[in-house]
Amino acid sequence: MVEILTAEEFEMMKASGKILQEVFKTLEKSIKPGMSTYDVDKIVHDIITGHGAVPSFLNYGNPPFPGSICASVNEEVVHGIPSHKRILKDGDIISVDVGAILNGYHSDACRTYLVGDVKQEVKDLVERTKQSFFEGLKYAKAGMRTGDIGHAVQEYCEGFGYGVVRELTGHGIGTSLHQDPEVLNYGKAGHGYKLKAGMAICIEPMITLGKRYIEQLSDGWTIVTRDGLPAAHYENTILITEDGPVMTTFEEDV
Ligand code: MG
Repeated sequence: MVEILTAEEFEMMKASGKILQEVFKTLEKSIKPGMSTYDVDKIVHDIITGHGAVPSFLNYGNPPFPGSICASVNEEVVHGIPSHKRILKDGDIISVDVGAILNGYHSDACRTYLVGDVKQEVKDLVERTKQSFFEGLKYAKAGMRTGDIGHAVQEYCEGFGYGVVRELTGHGIGTSLHQDPEVLNYGKAGHGYKLKAGMAICIEPMITLGKRYIEQLSDGWTIVTRDGLPAAHYENTILITEDGPVMTTFEEDV
């Protein structure tokens, strides 16, 4: 089902997204070597619940996800489980994917943070993964198609020789966390679902330094690159308006 939201509902989506802006502004200053991924989860959980919102990921799925964030370090692509035992080291990267529900409206976004001094090729991967989101965002307009977005992301990333993960995708969002349409990070321009004003979508490139192939760990959640090379992830919730895309989760002044 594709949900078409009213102007009032768009305002609700913006209020929900604003909480994630605060999350990212806080994490940008907080993430340091020596912290555990549980510590990061706790910071985010407290911000979300402090606003009277609910962390969308907590208890989501089967087995129920045990954190408020997905904390995916280095070769972990997505869905890493926060843990007291996973301590961030100098040179790591960590993707923090987070969702919030406020008054029934969801927002979903991700940033990949550098921990201390990170190798240049990994820094480039993180920066270009973010830029690939913005390449896709150019097509997040009424009348364009999801394939236009995927094509733009894929072309940009493969130009650097990176892998574009295909098994996991962006999605529609609104009164549920994941809904139609799928927003693939690869594809053909002019193909896919035609976007309409009133929709809300998440574009979320998951990009690898090596090959694009992934596998799931035995915890039932964590997805890693098969070749063990690092991966980065970047995501925002986007409203499709008559006047173009509006990101609800993008923190302007970081
Ligand atoms: Mg998402």
